[in-house]
Amino acid sequence: MAVTVDSEGTGHWRELRPGVLVRRYAELDLTVGLVLGDEQALVIDTRGDRRQGAELAEAVRGLTRLPAQVVLTHAHFDHCFGTTAFTPAPVWSHVDFTAHLTATAELQREAWTRHYRAVGETETAAALAETVIEFPDRSVDEPVVLDLGGRTVRLFHPGPGHTDHDLVIRVEDAAVSFVGDLLENGACPDFEDAHPLRWPDSLGQVLGHSDELFVPGHGDPMSPEQAARQHTELRSLAELCAGVSRGEIGEREAVAQGPYPEETVRAALSRVGGG
Ligand SMILES: [Zn+2]
Repeated sequence: MAVTVDSEGTGHWRELRPGVLVRRYAELDLTVGLVLGDEQALVIDTRGDRRQGAELAEAVRGLTRLPAQVVLTHAHFDHCFGTTAFTPAPVWSHVDFTAHLTATAELQREAWTRHYRAVGETETAAALAETVIEFPDRSVDEPVVLDLGGRTVRLFHPGPGHTDHDLVIRVEDAAVSFVGDLLENGACPDFEDAHPLRWPDSLGQVLGHSDELFVPGHGDPMSPEQAARQHTELRSLAELCAGVSRGEIGEREAVAQGPYPEETVRAALSRVGGG
Protein backbone atom coordinates (compact mmCIF):
# COMPACT_ATOMS: atom_id res chain seq x y z
CA MET A 1 0.00 0.00 0.00
CA ALA A 2 2.16 2.84 -1.31
CA VAL A 3 1.65 6.21 0.28
CA THR A 4 3.04 9.53 -0.78
CA VAL A 5 4.10 11.34 2.33
CA ASP A 6 3.60 15.09 2.28
CA SER A 7 6.00 16.94 4.50
CA GLU A 8 4.70 20.40 3.63
CA GLY A 9 2.17 22.53 5.46
CA THR A 10 1.43 22.89 9.13
CA GLY A 11 1.54 19.19 9.83
CA HIS A 12 3.86 16.41 8.80
CA TRP A 13 2.86 12.87 7.83
CA ARG A 14 5.16 10.05 8.74
CA GLU A 15 4.51 6.44 7.78
CA LEU A 16 5.50 4.32 10.78
CA ARG A 17 4.64 0.99 9.22
CA PRO A 18 2.88 0.28 5.91
CA GLY A 19 -0.42 2.17 5.90
CA VAL A 20 -0.01 3.36 9.49
CA LEU A 21 0.76 7.07 9.65
CA VAL A 22 1.16 9.76 12.23
CA ARG A 23 0.88 13.51 11.72
CA ARG A 24 2.67 15.85 14.05
CA TYR A 25 1.89 19.45 14.84
CA ALA A 26 3.85 22.22 16.49
CA GLU A 27 0.64 23.29 18.25
CA LEU A 28 0.75 21.50 21.63
CA ASP A 29 3.11 18.99 19.99
CA LEU A 30 -0.05 17.05 19.10
CA THR A 31 0.15 13.73 17.30
CA VAL A 32 -2.79 12.29 15.36
CA GLY A 33 -2.99 9.07 13.38
CA LEU A 34 -4.27 7.59 10.13
CA VAL A 35 -4.66 3.88 9.41
CA LEU A 36 -5.32 2.73 5.85
CA GLY A 37 -7.05 -0.52 5.00
CA ASP A 38 -7.99 -1.74 1.52
CA GLU A 39 -11.51 -0.39 1.87
CA GLN A 40 -11.57 2.15 4.66
CA ALA A 41 -9.40 4.64 6.51
CA LEU A 42 -9.42 5.33 10.23
CA VAL A 43 -8.54 8.80 11.54
CA ILE A 44 -7.32 8.87 15.15
CA ASP A 45 -8.13 12.18 16.87
CA THR A 46 -9.25 15.34 15.08
CA ARG A 47 -7.23 18.26 16.56
CA GLY A 48 -8.44 21.16 18.65
CA ASP A 49 -10.86 23.37 16.73
CA ARG A 50 -12.95 23.74 13.59
CA ARG A 51 -10.09 25.19 11.54
CA GLN A 52 -7.52 22.61 12.69
CA GLY A 53 -9.99 19.79 12.02
CA ALA A 54 -10.58 21.10 8.49
CA GLU A 55 -6.81 21.17 7.87
CA LEU A 56 -6.50 17.57 9.02
CA ALA A 57 -9.49 16.44 6.94
CA GLU A 58 -7.87 18.05 3.90
CA ALA A 59 -4.54 16.37 4.67
CA VAL A 60 -6.30 13.00 4.95
CA ARG A 61 -8.03 13.56 1.60
CA GLY A 62 -4.64 14.41 0.15
CA LEU A 63 -3.50 10.88 1.00
CA THR A 64 -6.57 8.76 0.43
CA ARG A 65 -10.02 8.85 -1.07
CA LEU A 66 -11.13 5.85 1.02
CA PRO A 67 -14.22 6.43 3.17
CA ALA A 68 -13.03 7.35 6.66
CA GLN A 69 -14.14 6.54 10.15
CA VAL A 70 -12.93 8.52 13.15
CA VAL A 71 -11.91 7.38 16.62
CA LEU A 72 -11.29 9.76 19.51
CA THR A 73 -8.80 8.75 22.20
CA HIS A 74 -10.41 10.99 24.84
CA ALA A 75 -12.47 14.14 25.34
CA HIS A 76 -9.75 16.76 25.82
CA PHE A 77 -10.31 19.55 23.31
CA ASP A 78 -6.99 19.22 21.48
CA HIS A 79 -7.89 15.66 20.48
CA CYS A 80 -11.55 16.04 19.55
CA PHE A 81 -12.81 19.56 18.86
CA GLY A 82 -11.98 19.21 15.15
CA THR A 83 -14.46 16.35 14.67
CA THR A 84 -17.05 18.46 12.86
CA ALA A 85 -14.78 18.47 9.78
CA PHE A 86 -15.24 14.69 9.45
CA THR A 87 -18.93 14.10 10.08
CA PRO A 88 -21.14 12.44 8.89
CA ALA A 89 -18.36 9.85 9.11
CA PRO A 90 -18.88 7.37 11.97
CA VAL A 91 -17.13 8.63 15.11
CA TRP A 92 -16.06 6.17 17.79
CA SER A 93 -15.21 6.85 21.41
CA HIS A 94 -15.39 5.17 24.79
CA VAL A 95 -18.87 4.91 26.28
CA ASP A 96 -17.99 7.48 29.00
CA PHE A 97 -16.55 10.02 26.54
CA THR A 98 -19.83 11.86 25.98
CA ALA A 99 -20.51 12.43 29.67
CA HIS A 100 -17.06 13.96 30.08
CA LEU A 101 -17.36 16.14 27.00
CA THR A 102 -20.85 17.28 27.98
CA ALA A 103 -19.63 18.28 31.42
CA THR A 104 -16.42 19.99 30.33
CA ALA A 105 -16.68 21.19 26.70
CA GLU A 106 -17.59 24.79 27.48
CA LEU A 107 -15.10 24.95 30.36
CA GLN A 108 -12.34 23.67 28.08
CA ARG A 109 -13.36 26.12 25.37
CA GLU A 110 -13.36 29.07 27.80
CA ALA A 111 -10.04 28.18 29.42
CA TRP A 112 -8.20 27.62 26.15
CA THR A 113 -9.77 30.58 24.33
CA ARG A 114 -8.52 32.72 27.21
CA HIS A 115 -5.09 31.10 26.93
CA TYR A 116 -4.79 31.67 23.18
CA ARG A 117 -5.91 35.30 23.55
CA ALA A 118 -3.39 35.81 26.36
CA VAL A 119 -0.51 34.53 24.22
CA GLY A 120 -1.62 36.55 21.20
CA GLU A 121 -2.88 33.63 19.08
CA THR A 122 -6.09 35.43 18.24
CA GLU A 123 -6.94 33.36 15.15
CA THR A 124 -6.76 30.14 17.14
CA ALA A 125 -8.82 31.73 19.91
CA ALA A 126 -11.47 32.79 17.37
CA ALA A 127 -11.54 29.36 15.72
CA LEU A 128 -11.97 27.68 19.09
CA ALA A 129 -14.68 30.13 20.14
CA GLU A 130 -16.77 29.39 17.04
CA THR A 131 -16.19 25.62 16.94
CA VAL A 132 -19.31 23.47 16.93
CA ILE A 133 -18.76 20.59 19.34
CA GLU A 134 -19.56 17.30 17.64
CA PHE A 135 -20.41 14.22 19.70
CA PRO A 136 -19.44 10.68 18.73
CA ASP A 137 -22.18 8.37 17.46
CA ARG A 138 -20.47 4.99 18.10
CA SER A 139 -19.47 3.94 21.58
CA VAL A 140 -16.99 1.36 22.83
CA ASP A 141 -17.66 -0.51 26.05
CA GLU A 142 -16.34 -4.01 25.41
CA PRO A 143 -13.48 -4.10 22.85
CA VAL A 144 -14.53 -3.44 19.25
CA VAL A 145 -12.74 -4.78 16.18
CA LEU A 146 -13.04 -2.64 13.04
CA ASP A 147 -12.40 -4.30 9.69
CA LEU A 148 -10.82 -1.72 7.38
CA GLY A 149 -10.40 -4.27 4.57
CA GLY A 150 -7.37 -6.52 4.74
CA ARG A 151 -6.55 -5.30 8.22
CA THR A 152 -8.30 -5.08 11.55
CA VAL A 153 -8.00 -2.48 14.25
CA ARG A 154 -8.94 -3.11 17.85
CA LEU A 155 -10.45 -0.37 20.01
CA PHE A 156 -10.40 -0.97 23.76
CA HIS A 157 -10.43 0.78 27.11
CA PRO A 158 -7.59 -0.49 29.32
CA GLY A 159 -9.05 1.09 32.48
CA PRO A 160 -8.88 4.54 34.10
CA GLY A 161 -5.63 6.41 33.49
CA HIS A 162 -5.14 9.82 31.91
CA THR A 163 -8.97 10.05 32.03
CA ASP A 164 -11.78 7.65 32.91
CA HIS A 165 -12.47 7.01 29.22
CA ASP A 166 -9.12 6.59 27.43
CA LEU A 167 -9.38 4.50 24.29
CA VAL A 168 -6.45 2.56 22.82
CA ILE A 169 -6.38 1.79 19.10
CA ARG A 170 -4.21 -1.18 18.16
CA VAL A 171 -3.39 -1.97 14.54
CA GLU A 172 -2.99 -5.70 15.02
CA ASP A 173 -0.97 -6.66 11.92
CA ALA A 174 1.39 -3.67 12.21
CA ALA A 175 1.94 -3.84 15.98
CA VAL A 176 1.24 -0.15 16.44
CA SER A 177 -0.79 1.11 19.39
CA PHE A 178 -2.24 4.62 19.47
CA VAL A 179 -2.58 5.33 23.18
CA GLY A 180 -3.72 8.97 23.38
CA ASP A 181 -2.38 10.74 26.45
CA LEU A 182 -1.79 7.51 28.40
CA LEU A 183 1.76 8.19 27.20
CA GLU A 184 3.42 11.50 26.41
CA ASN A 185 6.77 11.91 24.75
CA GLY A 186 8.68 15.07 25.53
CA ALA A 187 6.31 16.36 28.20
CA CYS A 188 5.08 15.17 31.57
CA PRO A 189 1.87 13.13 31.76
CA ASP A 190 -1.14 15.35 32.47
CA PHE A 191 -3.13 14.59 35.62
CA GLU A 192 -5.97 17.12 35.37
CA ASP A 193 -8.63 14.42 34.91
CA ALA A 194 -6.41 11.47 35.75
CA HIS A 195 -6.68 8.43 38.00
CA PRO A 196 -3.08 8.31 39.25
CA LEU A 197 -3.45 5.16 41.35
CA ARG A 198 -4.93 3.12 38.51
CA TRP A 199 -3.03 4.60 35.56
CA PRO A 200 -0.05 2.20 35.87
CA ASP A 201 -2.23 -0.94 35.77
CA SER A 202 -4.25 0.42 32.86
CA LEU A 203 -1.13 1.28 30.90
CA GLY A 204 0.22 -2.15 31.79
CA GLN A 205 -2.64 -3.67 29.75
CA VAL A 206 -1.21 -1.97 26.67
CA LEU A 207 2.48 -2.80 27.09
CA GLY A 208 4.16 -6.16 26.71
CA HIS A 209 4.55 -6.58 22.94
CA SER A 210 8.27 -6.41 22.27
CA ASP A 211 8.10 -5.10 18.69
CA GLU A 212 5.27 -2.63 19.36
CA LEU A 213 5.40 1.06 18.46
CA PHE A 214 3.41 3.31 20.80
CA VAL A 215 1.96 6.53 19.46
CA PRO A 216 1.41 9.03 22.28
CA GLY A 217 -1.06 11.89 22.11
CA HIS A 218 1.85 14.34 22.10
CA GLY A 219 5.35 13.86 20.74
CA ASP A 220 7.18 11.22 18.75
CA PRO A 221 6.23 7.52 18.64
CA MET A 222 7.82 5.53 21.44
CA SER A 223 9.68 2.25 21.61
CA PRO A 224 8.65 -0.44 24.15
CA GLU A 225 11.64 0.66 26.25
CA GLN A 226 10.53 4.30 26.30
CA ALA A 227 6.98 3.27 27.13
CA ALA A 228 8.22 0.98 29.91
CA ARG A 229 10.28 3.83 31.37
CA GLN A 230 7.21 6.07 31.55
CA HIS A 231 5.25 3.16 33.04
CA THR A 232 7.86 2.89 35.80
CA GLU A 233 7.62 6.63 36.48
CA LEU A 234 3.83 6.46 36.66
CA ARG A 235 4.07 3.51 39.04
CA SER A 236 6.49 5.28 41.34
CA LEU A 237 4.27 8.37 41.35
CA ALA A 238 1.21 6.18 42.11
CA GLU A 239 3.08 4.68 45.07
CA LEU A 240 3.92 8.14 46.38
CA CYS A 241 0.29 9.26 45.98
CA ALA A 242 -0.88 6.13 47.81
CA GLY A 243 1.66 6.79 50.57
CA VAL A 244 0.38 10.34 51.03
CA SER A 245 -3.27 9.29 51.03
CA ARG A 246 -2.49 6.66 53.71
CA GLY A 247 -0.67 9.30 55.77
CA GLU A 248 2.66 7.46 55.55
CA ILE A 249 4.56 10.29 53.90
CA GLY A 250 3.98 14.03 53.58
CA GLU A 251 3.25 15.89 50.38
CA ARG A 252 6.59 17.65 50.49
CA GLU A 253 8.38 14.30 50.66
CA ALA A 254 6.30 13.00 47.76
CA VAL A 255 7.21 16.09 45.72
CA ALA A 256 10.90 15.64 46.55
CA GLN A 257 10.87 11.97 45.54
CA GLY A 258 8.53 12.31 42.57
CA PRO A 259 9.67 11.41 39.06
CA TYR A 260 8.19 14.65 37.67
CA PRO A 261 8.36 18.37 38.52
CA GLU A 262 6.48 19.67 41.55
CA GLU A 263 3.50 20.99 39.58
CA THR A 264 2.87 17.56 38.03
CA VAL A 265 3.29 15.66 41.31
CA ARG A 266 0.92 18.08 43.06
CA ALA A 267 -1.64 17.69 40.26
CA ALA A 268 -1.49 13.92 40.74
CA LEU A 269 -1.77 14.25 44.53
CA SER A 270 -4.84 16.47 44.14
CA ARG A 271 -6.55 13.68 42.22
CA VAL A 272 -6.21 11.26 45.12
CA GLY A 273 -7.20 13.73 47.82
CA GLY A 274 -3.63 14.38 48.87
CA GLY A 275 -2.83 17.77 47.37
ZN1 LIG B 1 -5.48 14.68 27.35
